[in-house]
Amino acid sequence: MDLNQPIYSERVTIDTVESELTAGKNIKLHVLRLDKLHPVISGNKWFKLKYYLADAADKGYKKIVTFGGPYSNHIAATAYAAKQLNFDAVGVIRGEQPLLPSHTLSAARDLGMELHFLSRDDYNLSKRSAGINPIDNRFKDHYYIPEGGFGSKGVAGAAEILHPGDIIKYTHIITAVGTGTTIAGILQVASPQQEVIGISAMKNNTALADEISSLLENGIPGNLRIIHDYHFGGYAKKSQPLLDFMNRFYRLSNIPLDFVYTGKVMYGIFDLISKNYFSPGAAILMLHTGGLQGNRSLPPGILEFREKM
Ligand SMILES: *Cc1c(COP(=O)(O)O)cnc(C)c1O
Repeated sequence: MDLNQPIYSERVTIDTVESELTAGKNIKLHVLRLDKLHPVISGNKWFKLKYYLADAADKGYKKIVTFGGPYSNHIAATAYAAKQLNFDAVGVIRGEQPLLPSHTLSAARDLGMELHFLSRDDYNLSKRSAGINPIDNRFKDHYYIPEGGFGSKGVAGAAEILHPGDIIKYTHIITAVGTGTTIAGILQVASPQQEVIGISAMKNNTALADEISSLLENGIPGNLRIIHDYHFGGYAKKSQPLLDFMNRFYRLSNIPLDFVYTGKVMYGIFDLISKNYFSPGAAILMLHTGGLQGNRSLPPGILEFREKM
């Protein structure tokens, strides 16, 4: 792994998804396969981490600390990148230490990440800003990476996901939203005529618009639309209709989705198409932001494609 190497890789393809629904409504649906970048640091995570890690190296830090929940793709990606780049890494994990660590946490530990568990309240005080939080004394020598890479360096990296010249032909760009860092980067390169749609992975995240706004110089642009209708009960919550949809979508397209982010986004896209949200002739680019490692927390057999990861 080389911090100076361009991260837009040939491995990433743009796949076309054809179905009765898209054909019937005359909608073109394309998927940017960022999940193919790398099995662990897949999707948007490497983009969001890149400038933080480069800054840490420039400033001579040997240790980094970052934040996430027990199934966090960001924790998994940071643990792997830190090992590759010879940083000592600490992951501060939201909530009490579980009796059995999640797949994500044991994988992070196997990569050498030291895990610290913080109560939700202390975690929330710590996750975004070094200096006013309960952990800063413990990790004084560590370079601080906010939860999910939230912040201007994360946005700068996410702005490299799409190249303006490559995306002119799409009328809509659609992505999952957690912290909002990725979509803030996408908004830097989308044209004002393109609608950028974020599908929130959280339930009633009323702070989201303000948080995205805080990442953008000129506030929320007119072409951004955040949709809160496809969280399936909340962050990392799932139900049978979602899992059935993910299996059907895989049979249709050969594209695996994760149940926390991209499965919900694709479900939302199909639902919006069926409700005539898009005009005939629309060309959608959905960003497959990765996250497939999270499916390992599901019991075997639920997803038809899990074993192939
Ligand atoms: C982290 C993650 C997101 C959310 O990205 P934000 O920049 O936090 O909004 C979306 N999709 C996947 C698969 C992720 O792992």
